[in-house]
Amino acid sequence: MPATTIPPDSAARFAPLVAGVRAIYGQGFIPLHRPVFAGREKQYLSDCIDSNFVSSVGAKVTEFEQRIAAFTGVRHAVATVNGTAALHVALHLAGVERDDAVLTQALTFIATGNAIRYRGAHPVFLDVDRDTLGLSPIALRRFLDRHAEVRHGRAFDQSSGRRLAACVPMHTFGHPCRIEEIVALCAEYRIPVVEDAAEALGSFVGARHAGGFGRLGILSFNGNKIITTGGGGMILTDDPELAARAKHLTTTAKVPHPYEFVHDEVGYNYRLPNLNAALGCAQLERLPAMLAVKAAVAARYAALCAETGFPFVQAPPGTVSNYWLNAILFDSLAERDAFLEYSNAQGVMTRPLWRLLHRLDMYADCPRDGLEHSLWLEERLVNLPSSVPDGAMAGNI
Ligand SMILES: *Cc1c(COP(=O)(O)O)cnc(C)c1O
Repeated sequence: MPATTIPPDSAARFAPLVAGVRAIYGQGFIPLHRPVFAGREKQYLSDCIDSNFVSSVGAKVTEFEQRIAAFTGVRHAVATVNGTAALHVALHLAGVERDDAVLTQALTFIATGNAIRYRGAHPVFLDVDRDTLGLSPIALRRFLDRHAEVRHGRAFDQSSGRRLAACVPMHTFGHPCRIEEIVALCAEYRIPVVEDAAEALGSFVGARHAGGFGRLGILSFNGNKIITTGGGGMILTDDPELAARAKHLTTTAKVPHPYEFVHDEVGYNYRLPNLNAALGCAQLERLPAMLAVKAAVAARYAALCAETGFPFVQAPPGTVSNYWLNAILFDSLAERDAFLEYSNAQGVMTRPLWRLLHRLDMYADCPRDGLEHSLWLEERLVNLPSSVPDGAMAGNI
């Protein structure tokens, strides 16, 4: 990398930050986020192989679902092959159809936009709050008051004529967005909320778990998320009928029968395999301990940022964040880029925000608001290494 791209004084500003990261994670290459297998993972996987039930039928899938329901306090949990599949089916169940419009944020991982497109629907990108990094109720109110009309109990976007079939807020990096305000606003306009809580297992608003506020919510257990099943996801809902429909749709819509194969609609082969669920059960046993370590890492970053003068993204007031990925803010795009170059060159993996979805070719023509805060954050935000440090599960961070 050409050293000339780095402003002359920045190495001096950045060195204490990188030293602070190394004080937590030690020497050598430091990844952004890696999984920890410190519990009964091997035992449960081995039990699973011995049982012969490794695929999408097996006791561990049901157990994993029940444990997630118990942990989140959401009544029903339906396990899927990944979080994107969970979101695809959740949007289906929320009633999103071809040519509908779906309100969401431009500041999100690609899966949010893709799942909307899998339904043949069109994302509408709204701005986020600067503090929560999640969908802004102010931006949502502004959009709805200007463009939405309720006819026969359904909301329409008057500018495009499309039905406003769902709203998908996302809890960025595990920091809960203003979900209660969003749900209340959407209720006024009869728009179902599907929460993308893929990053938010272990995050709460008051005493309630993220993903449990909307009609449906989803979680992800990808390898980089707070706990992993290798690949996996979960649909959350309090509604027993939606849960039954979710199970049916994700298991090829097969009509239960001891030997006949009859399917009553076009379903999906989206059920989580038993092997992956076995891994998930072991990971879940360690989740409370992991969350405590993640909170301790975040507290160390907060102190480091206070010392070095860089703003640290904190959990919004009244919420508990899982601090999946820690984030700090730089003064400008030039400074952000200089830090990304400086830290990655030293083997400390850091990452900018995802490119905002409206700036990607396939979503370039989607309607959007001014995205003021999203663009501001995109230029400044950097994720720092956020794994559970080696040995930290023994309690020594
Ligand atoms: C990880 C993630 C998903 C999708 O999860 P996968 O399990 O990777 O398919 C969806 N939305 C957001 C915001 C995510 O971070």
